[in-house]
Amino acid sequence: MKRVGAHVSIAGGVQNAPLNAARLGATAFAMFTKNQRQWRSRPLAPEAIEAFQENLAETGIHACHVLPHDSYLINLGHPEPEALQKSRDAFVDEMLRCQQLGLALLNFHPGSHLKKIPEEESLALVSDSINQALDQTRGVTAVIENTAGQGTNLGYRFEHLAMIIDKVEDKSRVGVCLDTCHTFTSGYDLRTREQCESVFETFEQIVGFRYLRGMHLNDSKPDLGSRVDRHESLGKGKLGWEVFRYIMNDERFEEIPMVLETVDDTLWAGEIQQLHELNG
Ligand SMILES: [Zn+2]
Ligand SMILES: [Zn+2]
Repeated sequence: MKRVGAHVSIAGGVQNAPLNAARLGATAFAMFTKNQRQWRSRPLAPEAIEAFQENLAETGIHACHVLPHDSYLINLGHPEPEALQKSRDAFVDEMLRCQQLGLALLNFHPGSHLKKIPEEESLALVSDSINQALDQTRGVTAVIENTAGQGTNLGYRFEHLAMIIDKVEDKSRVGVCLDTCHTFTSGYDLRTREQCESVFETFEQIVGFRYLRGMHLNDSKPDLGSRVDRHESLGKGKLGWEVFRYIMNDERFEEIPMVLETVDDTLWAGEIQQLHELNG
């Protein structure tokens, strides 16, 4: 079964996320577990954790179809030791919050080399960061998102994802999330069925679908290969509908959270419905 939803708000507390998702007719969702623009947040209150789990059970959405996203401040490939440590501490805190909520995944962007160290060196730091976080937590899989490659962000080639995974010790707790907008703007064309076949075959060769833990379903404002990260509502950008038809009809995308991060949240319920209508 295809599990489709959106990145929903936690305004008023994390416990509101499942309710916000259910209101959209979603069977999966993404969320932050804290304010994503701040380094420090209060620990999750036991009452909030309990309410989250109650609300989740009430909606019938499975914990394995929730794909939390970490803070945008974290850079697990940071070239400077002090800043790297700050990111690593924050990442462990994010993993622990997922663990407390009974969730199985944490989605994050690999990191940035900031033009201070070579890409490979920064990618190796990301692997080390993941190893350290996995050692300090239980039951949560670190899910690396591919990026548009804006600025000095890593993760814009499937090879980057493979290089990070290669150095992770516990391969059972590392995975990837493909963002359709990022995939397209980083240079992989997904506008036709044939191009989808070819790009996902390349993904299978280099990374492997066994690592695919989630999808971000976004159209793209910028063009192919622009390396600019700007999402657009489905069907209103440069990508078009074909890639979504392809994904909704391909078995390799079953039973993983697939979430919208499109720009107009008033369209989400309709977009989720349109995606399901593409199936079959
Ligand atoms: Zn992301
Ligand atoms: Zn994304």
